Amino acid sequence: MRGPLLMIPGPTNVDERVLKALSLPPLGHTSPEFYGEFKELLELTAKTYFTGRENVVVYSGSGTLGMEGVLASIIEPGDKVLALVNGFFAERMASIAEIYGARVRRVRFGFGEPVNPEKVEEFLLKEDFKAVTVSHVETSTGTASDVREVAKIAREHDALAIVDVVSSLGGMPIRFDEYGFDAAFASSQKCIAGPPGATLIALSKRAKEAITGRKSPVRSYYFDLRRWLKVMSDPKIYLATPAIPILRALRVALQILHEEGIENRWRRHRKMAELIREGIEKMGLSIASKSPADTVTAALLDRPMAKKLQNYVYEKHGILIATGIGEMKDRVLRIGHLGLVNEEMVERTLAALKDALDRIG
Ligand code: PMP
Repeated sequence: MRGPLLMIPGPTNVDERVLKALSLPPLGHTSPEFYGEFKELLELTAKTYFTGRENVVVYSGSGTLGMEGVLASIIEPGDKVLALVNGFFAERMASIAEIYGARVRRVRFGFGEPVNPEKVEEFLLKEDFKAVTVSHVETSTGTASDVREVAKIAREHDALAIVDVVSSLGGMPIRFDEYGFDAAFASSQKCIAGPPGATLIALSKRAKEAITGRKSPVRSYYFDLRRWLKVMSDPKIYLATPAIPILRALRVALQILHEEGIENRWRRHRKMAELIREGIEKMGLSIASKSPADTVTAALLDRPMAKKLQNYVYEKHGILIATGIGEMKDRVLRIGHLGLVNEEMVERTLAALKDALDRIG
């Protein structure tokens, strides 16, 4: 692997085969070669979500653009949305929903806390909501929530379950159809270990019906998933020029993922997370989350020094780790262990962090 070791929650280290795909000579998006590769990319995306090929949409942009596509297309002005907010990225969904005219009811959970499904039920029993938004892994605190239970409750109350799987797809168990999700979106640069620049979306039959049956126009051109669904059923249709090298490289990253086997990959992520948590606690730091994720770990520092530790680890050891986000920026250190991260990388990172703490802490 060339360059610094990326131990951040995306972008991640990528395989040489992905790098090679990024440097291929240009290909036109209307060429038979790209058409064939794109169809395979959609099949691999569907396989990763455990859903049908007709339910997935992949387009250029980052995870935020997947999030916005889903919300812009599902929400009509005045719709009621229950937003489960346990951190920075969960709040982003609530904000975008408001931009598209939703009346958003935020249910807040504390720093490092997962979403409590019982609370969700309480709200849904009292009022009707068109959709519930929730993050599977809240990356700002390394917290995993029981989104399967949330989706089950949402469905019982006839609300659409919109799930952010940006920091979990390919790294933690997700079976889109079986878990009863209605809409989910992911980024290419996280557990899938592709380059940044594409989003992978899945939609249930109910979500597609809500999108195609909406009464008001979608207040966006690019984010109108009705247009993208047509392109997915026939990638020869032109909508906007795709980021061809990124999508080609993403296809290779997904091939590598399925060569490993998705369940093996989930297990490897779990194992790396356990090693990281064990190592961090041995250093006397505590884990910030009450429900730690398998893909990113946040450690609490007793004084603000995350930036200093980050700089030292990067300059001295060539390893990039992340600080916190928002108010806790300098009090939280985050280690991403997603994508291709293995035991040797984890050990190197823990040794580098130990060195930094000895010097600075
Ligand atoms: N949701 C979550 C949970 C995330 O971690 C991130 C990125 N860190 C995003 C959304 C936004 O994704 P992107 O940066 O690819 O736009």
